[in-house]
Amino acid sequence: MSISQEVARRRTFAIISHPDAGKTTLTEKLLLFAGAIQIAGSVKARKASRHASSDWMEIEKQRGISVASSVMQMEYRDCVINLLDTPGHQDFSEDTYRVLTAVDAALMVIDAANGVEPQTIRLLQVCRARNTPIITFINKLDREVQEPLNLLSEIESHLGMDAVPFSWPVGMGRSFGGVFDIRRNRMRVFRAGQEKRGAQDEMIDGLDNPEIASRFGDAYAKANEEIELIQAAAPEFDHDAFLAGKQTPVFFGSAINNFGVQEVLDALVDLAPTPGPRTAIQREVQPDEPKFSGVVFKVQANMDPAHRDRVAFVRVSSGRFERGMRLKIARNGKEMRPNNVVSFLSQRRELLDVAYAGDVIGIPNHGVLQLGDVLTEGETLQFTGLPFFAPELFQAVEVKDPLRIKQLRIGLTQLGEEGAIQVFRPEASGGALLLGAVGQLQFEVVAHRLKTEYKVDARMMPSRYNMARWFTAEDPAVLRKFMNANAANIAYDVVDAAAFLASSPAQLRVAQELYPGVEFHAMREHG
Ligand code: GDP
Repeated sequence: MSISQEVARRRTFAIISHPDAGKTTLTEKLLLFAGAIQIAGSVKARKASRHASSDWMEIEKQRGISVASSVMQMEYRDCVINLLDTPGHQDFSEDTYRVLTAVDAALMVIDAANGVEPQTIRLLQVCRARNTPIITFINKLDREVQEPLNLLSEIESHLGMDAVPFSWPVGMGRSFGGVFDIRRNRMRVFRAGQEKRGAQDEMIDGLDNPEIASRFGDAYAKANEEIELIQAAAPEFDHDAFLAGKQTPVFFGSAINNFGVQEVLDALVDLAPTPGPRTAIQREVQPDEPKFSGVVFKVQANMDPAHRDRVAFVRVSSGRFERGMRLKIARNGKEMRPNNVVSFLSQRRELLDVAYAGDVIGIPNHGVLQLGDVLTEGETLQFTGLPFFAPELFQAVEVKDPLRIKQLRIGLTQLGEEGAIQVFRPEASGGALLLGAVGQLQFEVVAHRLKTEYKVDARMMPSRYNMARWFTAEDPAVLRKFMNANAANIAYDVVDAAAFLASSPAQLRVAQELYPGVEFHAMREHG
């Protein structure tokens, strides 16, 4: 197969939701339907075994949440689907955001009882900012849930995009009869159970089929009315509008009962975009170019705390990756020749031989690869768009044993490069290092990892800051004046970019008013 044929059959998406909406369950069922796993339950089992085998993931175990996000690859209908999990906890970290930069589409799972929840809204904002196409799955129709029409309007108001139902539920909870496939004009009859696959479900053709009316009575009458209503009111599905992030196709189902999952999997193949071009500072990179390029969007410490090796997650942007090929790190021109590269096929980490645009490969290394690094066959490329978000939470960090201060700095530099936390060095000399995060949990993870991986007992202390803005100014004199006047509030991040730290929005506003020539940025793009 040619490179462009390989690219054309790839779909890379993130799965996003609020905790407990059913993301893990749906993921598992997608893998099951695609034939990537034989027995449902292995995703959960893997979660559990990960807990048992890794030390610093204790935190994860204690909280019962997923700190790390992972990647799964499956084949379905001649397509290669890469599914990137995002940690589902309101106390999430920047990792989650960055995963969204490595995908071409997102699958949003909504609990039909709870509607659109806070964590989902934050993730959606990132998707919206990048115009990422979103497919919506409304889960748990086997329960007494919210009215589907209300759910639709909630999605529309939170997403700021049109929701176009592809299916419609007939009843819910006890009276749940199934879902009506609006486009194929047929009903999939609900049957509870986890063992079955969708293909065995009973189908009834035609919304006006008297069999549906007689079997599902009131639930049918209501669904029929609602479908008429939405067909009159909702816009037609427009594939371009979906690809531009202006419309989301909506599916209803029950993940735990394997119900409605097939439609979602088919939608991924039929609707989701193939990997597109990526913008580098130098030029636009096409996915089917012959030469390989890829970007590190996530770095994760290895599960084995005894070895300080890390896995860099690389999203392939172009060309063909082959194991053992010679690669250049664009940042410093260093060469590497990764041999034990892993793919994430069907839940197991397997040695990978080839990969194409859209695929994610894992490269074990000892700190050579950093977040945002670009790997090429020789060309110098710097992709834009790997975001660092202005932290909203700050803590000062000190080491209990002054003799360990050097270790603390080494540890924090490495964790900062890895993107686990943002480390700020205050301009005012003698100031303790400041840690910045978007989720409280990041501090705990860092304290734990400093202790287990760097043997440093760190003391986290409250900080008076709760906002940071990177800043730039066209006129160097204006910049200098601003920095001199605000030296006490200026700190440098891990790549030495200067940020203004404020203790309140009012303080930031004052600075903005006093220095109109200075621009303040809530996000810094790598590079
Ligand atoms: P995650 O936190 O989003 O990954 O959610 P999980 O997949 O772990 O599911 C959260 C809970 O909802 C679990 O107890 C699941 O068994 C349950 N659940 C998932 N899908 C369904 C569904 O379709 N119907 C019902 N009734 N429960 C479900």
